[in-house]
Amino acid sequence: MKRLLIDLDICSKCKECGMLCSYIQHPGNNGIMTLREFAHFAVVCRRCDDAPCVSSCPWEALELQPSNMLKRYMMRCTSCKNCSRACPFGVIYPETIPFVISRCDYCMGRLKDGEVPICLQSCTHGGIQYGEFEEKKEDGIFKASDHLMVKTVFKWERAEEIPPKKK
Ligand code: SF4
Ligand code: SF4
Repeated sequence: MKRLLIDLDICSKCKECGMLCSYIQHPGNNGIMTLREFAHFAVVCRRCDDAPCVSSCPWEALELQPSNMLKRYMMRCTSCKNCSRACPFGVIYPETIPFVISRCDYCMGRLKDGEVPICLQSCTHGGIQYGEFEEKKEDGIFKASDHLMVKTVFKWERAEEIPPKKK
């Protein structure tokens, strides 16, 4: 199955984000921001037990799901950026939590006609790819969802067993 692959290490540095994805409902805003947010939550977030991002939000717009995946309720979020400042690991980039909602539907309509997601045409730096990718953690390639793979330098692993605190 073909999927989008977002390379966070390229995408997070580039400021020329693909405006082809921007359409009338959210001019100047594009689905790649949503992809970046989702990719950070899926792969980079440490899933903190005390989740300072969640407690910093004045509008209860962030929630750790039962799967431990962070979710931002966009209709509650005012884009105040408190969560971005609260995260000790820099997971929540300010530009990926805009007030104006952006959506990525993986260009499902285009795919039916045999075309590729439109962001591929706007990204000239290789930050977005489309193809058949397998998860390969040793190469920093992770599956974030059925439609999205994430490539990033990934240097943490959560311990299965949390050692007891020393007295
Ligand atoms: S940016 Fe949104 S999710 Fe983050 S603290 Fe502010 S309202 Fe909550
Ligand atoms: S504070 Fe940062 S690392 Fe911790 S759960 Fe929130 S986003 Fe993830």
